[in-house]
Amino acid sequence: MDIVKVTPRGYCYGVVDAITLAKRVASDPNVPRPIFVLGQIVHNRHVVNQLSELGIVTLDGASRLDLLEQVPVGSTIIFTAHGVAPAVKERAQARGLNVYDATCPDVTRTHELIQQKIAQGRFILYIGTPGHPEPEGATGEAPSNRIALIASREDAMSVEVPTGMTVAVMTQTTLSQWDTQAIIAAIQSRFPDAEIFNEICMATQSRQEAAVNAAQDVDLVVVVGDRRSNNSNRLVEVSELIGKTRAIRVESAEDLKPEWFVNVKRVAITSGSSTPTEITRSVIQQISQWASVHSSTIASSS
Ligand code: SF4
Repeated sequence: MDIVKVTPRGYCYGVVDAITLAKRVASDPNVPRPIFVLGQIVHNRHVVNQLSELGIVTLDGASRLDLLEQVPVGSTIIFTAHGVAPAVKERAQARGLNVYDATCPDVTRTHELIQQKIAQGRFILYIGTPGHPEPEGATGEAPSNRIALIASREDAMSVEVPTGMTVAVMTQTTLSQWDTQAIIAAIQSRFPDAEIFNEICMATQSRQEAAVNAAQDVDLVVVVGDRRSNNSNRLVEVSELIGKTRAIRVESAEDLKPEWFVNVKRVAITSGSSTPTEITRSVIQQISQWASVHSSTIASSS
């Protein structure tokens, strides 16, 4: 079995910067304790566990605004790479919290674009995944009667926009261009003069294009990434839909099953932009072991 290590894969600059900031905060004795992260710093439990060992508490499972209420006055809070709504920043300041902001610059750019388009009188259609923190933060940049979260073609066909308002369309950074095409086409069929802004970031796009290219030449794609990682789930989706190959997501080497590789002659391995390199390396090592066992069996029987 041949193993194709897809590049680029793994950590993007936004994730590297966020983790570096969190570790720097944890190592600074002058930073007020306790230290919290508002949501998972990136969607990967291995990274969350690493930060926990440094004494950083991850708050999760509710809206950013609600989570903020759990942070004691005077302690430290880190905003994640996904960004937060202005209301969250204002509340953190009002409560006297010591704030560090790890928002990725690509997410900040979308927030600024929303502000600009609201100032120009547009109605925003934000294409994103409901319940994910990035849309929660981005949609918080606009008054609630000037923005709608669009998750599907059906949403695009049913959304109500006030008469006479021009629509501006933006996408979450970790979607795929193939996902969004049908939704954007539906929006354009209803709002022909809509302004379209593709906000899928370069890191997401280049990883997806590399996975799709590799998928066309292999029997199986293995994506290493957390179940909550939007960009990892998209890598599976584009490998199957566009690359036309079977694709499987695993969180670590322990998830791998040898039976997946029966009759597989070529496997491609990639990982989401929130997946630590050492986790992907251990997945590659495990598959390599099975590949060499497989080839030695072939050699001994010939
Ligand atoms: S996936 Fe893109 S937007 Fe998200 S942190 Fe990485 S570079 Fe930034």
